[in-house]
Amino acid sequence: MFDKIVIANRGEIALRIQRACRTLGIKTVAVHSEADRDTKYVKLADESVCIGPARPMDSYLNIPAVISAADVTDAQAIHPGYGFLSENADFAERVEQSGFVFIGPRAETIRLMGDKISAIKVMKKAGVPCVPGSDGPLPKEENDILRIGKEVGYPVLIKAAAGGGGRGMRVVHTEAALLTAVSLTRGEAKAAFGNDTVYLEKFLPNPRHIEFQVLADTHGNAIHLGERDCSMQRRHQKVVEECPAPGLPEKLRHKIGERCAEACEKIEYRGAGTFEFLYQDGEFYFIEMNTRVQVEHPVTEMVTGVDIVRESIRIAAGEKLSFRQKDIEWRGHAIECRINAEDPRTFAPSPGRITSWHAPGGPGIRVDSHVYANYYVPPYYDSMIAKLIAYGENRQVAMARMRVALSEMLVDGIKTNIPLHRDIMEDAAFEKGGVNIHYLEKKLGL
Ligand code: ADP
Repeated sequence: MFDKIVIANRGEIALRIQRACRTLGIKTVAVHSEADRDTKYVKLADESVCIGPARPMDSYLNIPAVISAADVTDAQAIHPGYGFLSENADFAERVEQSGFVFIGPRAETIRLMGDKISAIKVMKKAGVPCVPGSDGPLPKEENDILRIGKEVGYPVLIKAAAGGGGRGMRVVHTEAALLTAVSLTRGEAKAAFGNDTVYLEKFLPNPRHIEFQVLADTHGNAIHLGERDCSMQRRHQKVVEECPAPGLPEKLRHKIGERCAEACEKIEYRGAGTFEFLYQDGEFYFIEMNTRVQVEHPVTEMVTGVDIVRESIRIAAGEKLSFRQKDIEWRGHAIECRINAEDPRTFAPSPGRITSWHAPGGPGIRVDSHVYANYYVPPYYDSMIAKLIAYGENRQVAMARMRVALSEMLVDGIKTNIPLHRDIMEDAAFEKGGVNIHYLEKKLGL
């Protein structure tokens, strides 16, 4: 096992990784920007290294600064968390070339999954169900594009191969609009991602977002931890997540989960990962793989009892998974609310000093947060300040606990989206379960 790890991230996930390290007896190095210097989680780490000014480009995205922090502290491995450098294949490569372990998949896997066309190709070959589409980049020849559009059937979606964050996509409803849409998306993709490769797939009008968590070690063992439903989204950003997905037949969970685990074995995946799917009319359609730990991993932890972050560190150290697929049981239900420092109506960020802070508690309640009274929410980073997770023996109990927790939670000095979460937990359609990815925006009148 490692003796010391650099945590190349900030906020709640930096604290989450630190907690996992401490249970494993691993020392931690917190790298931080000037803006995060005086935070409690940085002080909690065994060592800390300031890697630059507040702006992410100058600190958390500064590859040489992060690697030299590992150098000067004699650490053996680097955990990237989520966001920042976590899905940067060049970073993973340079970490390993510098003699450290990257806690995540191999650089070539990150690269393969970062290109959506190659990811879909690999998944299709591995038996993972994908959205019907162009099976590769759209050709240059106009007649070929029109033929593909007709074969797939309208409406279709044009997507940039290098796209991300919900950008570089365009819906096309009729053949007459196809060629213009393709050339517009190519232009945008070139400008935004430096790559004008686009592909086409069937547009699904009313899907749910359901994703599968996997863990794979370097001894050829891969397992799945079931699914999460993350359909409550605004602008492709997840707001509420839950495990399991309401109403999903258990047989289907096992079937799709097993396909994902098999795909991991085929591509020699390493560490924690997520297969994202759209789910409509009883069918799953793979859209992309995230090659890192995700914000919403705690709901899976609550229901399976597996510490995903701890496992990912053990895997990186070359150890075998601590359990087999048959050992995994799904018990009860967990829901996560992402608590953001933002106006609950306009969604404008609301950085500033938190004057008072009270975290809820009681049976089944978990709060993953780096925040405390007098903490200053800096304006430079993502606005998420806490994750509130409620567990219960069934969905009703989890929701009841979440309502109580949201009524107890107190954050003064800044605005938060807690009122939005209170609304969602009282929403009749959400309570019933199984709403699609457009539901929240419709409810908000967007
Ligand atoms: P990104 O990497 O930009 O997040 P994704 O491929 O994950 O791109 O797609 C982002 C979102 O776009 C999905 O969560 C879904 O809401 C929507 N989307 C993607 N593909 C389709 C599709 N074929 N039909 C309908 N909606 C889609």
